[in-house]
Amino acid sequence: MCGIFGIQGHDEAANIAYLGLHALQHRGQESAGVVAGDPSLRRHVEMGLVSDIFTRETLAKLPGRAAIGHVRYSTAGSSELRNAQPFLFDYALGGVAIAHNGNLVNATSVKIRLENRGSIFQTSSDTEVIVHLMAEAREADCVSRLISALRQVEGAYSLVLLTDDNKLIGARDPNGFRPLVIGRVKDAYVLSSETSSFDLIEAEFIRDVEPGEVVVIEKGGITSHRIMPAAAERFCVFEHVYFARPDSLVNGKSVYRAREKMGIRLAQESKIDADVVIPVPDSGVPSAIGFAKEAGIPFEMGLIRSHYVGRTFIEPQDSIRHFGVRLKLSPVRSIVDGKKVIVVDDSLVRGTTSRKIVKMLRGAGAKEVHMRISAPPTTHPCFYGIDTPTRSELVAASHTVEEIARYITCDSLAYLSHDGLMASVGAKADGTGYCSACFTGVYPVALGAPDEAALVRLRRSKV
Ligand code: AMP
Repeated sequence: MCGIFGIQGHDEAANIAYLGLHALQHRGQESAGVVAGDPSLRRHVEMGLVSDIFTRETLAKLPGRAAIGHVRYSTAGSSELRNAQPFLFDYALGGVAIAHNGNLVNATSVKIRLENRGSIFQTSSDTEVIVHLMAEAREADCVSRLISALRQVEGAYSLVLLTDDNKLIGARDPNGFRPLVIGRVKDAYVLSSETSSFDLIEAEFIRDVEPGEVVVIEKGGITSHRIMPAAAERFCVFEHVYFARPDSLVNGKSVYRAREKMGIRLAQESKIDADVVIPVPDSGVPSAIGFAKEAGIPFEMGLIRSHYVGRTFIEPQDSIRHFGVRLKLSPVRSIVDGKKVIVVDDSLVRGTTSRKIVKMLRGAGAKEVHMRISAPPTTHPCFYGIDTPTRSELVAASHTVEEIARYITCDSLAYLSHDGLMASVGAKADGTGYCSACFTGVYPVALGAPDEAALVRLRRSKV
């Protein structure tokens, strides 16, 4: 996963991009970067968090009225500086910078073809494939070359690009897997993965970039182009379940409200008699609120999260991951002691977190611990940009709900049904409009064989 941001027509473009990336930090913590244009393009990219990377001095070296930025959480390409975005390159038409959120499913196949024709790649990121395809295209302008490149790639992409003639370009793949929204602050237009950044910079939300649309923002305003006729929309439902910030609107809907509805529906499907409902903070909070309201059981913060540790999800070894959960969460004895507790979390992937939480709550005196998950069982890995482990590590891929309950040692376990999830996000009656491949195994865009092998290699290297 990644977060992307762009601004055009503002005297302090790099500063605003920095603030925008702050509000997208939850989408990636491995590296961050900004490219600004005055009009020649300058880049500052480092590994780490936005607030650690950018200082007044580094931002002062990025003058210009347009800028793009990126925060990275690697899903294709390893976590190292050479893969940190935005990428900046020069080609026949001048300088261009690009930042990408998503995952191309045919990048390895296209890369092999390009390498056989003489291309030399500098990174192991799928995004670089788009750059090479733009460089070899024959069209006379940058936007047409981008469209020509995008017609040759498949999978998930939301992109922002900046050219050295001060065009800010945004694009979304024809299925619209990943979000990208347009806003306005004073005379400037902004593009962002989520509206959470608009609130910080006081921008007004205008609309989503449509699936299959390329928007070009320059002095005269916005023009819209199409990559190809629209395909069936497949917005990632996991953005609503876990990834996006609850204060964002994504795909036109409030993330908070969607999660609250998931909790309400979960209570309707699997309510149980208990004394207290507690969330796994932060991601389980809105759904636990919905659950508690619907079930008529008091909501309390029975687990407190330390905000001074990073995410535990991608720690290298199981032993460290176990320890990581305890670093991140601790139980409030006065809330859970002697109580029948319902714990609501947004998802259960390997089961490591839930197992640890159940143990912690029992240690703090809980009489019964009932785990409720506001999404269906995660049975399949994502090919479109969410960092999920390989299938063999997904506990629900090979175990029944009863077996998982035994493994995490809870008194009962229930997941939200797929229908319940779809109703909560306002999907069409037949469930179309969203991609829920991680819960169903129905992949809207197939993954090429070399690409699958490359993705499996990368994910193994991260475990
Ligand atoms: P696990 O211990 O593997 O079952 O992880 C479950 C926890 O990880 C839940 O609390 C989720 O909120 C969180 N989670 C689920 N998916 C992701 C993801 N792609 N990246 C980071 N955290 C995640």
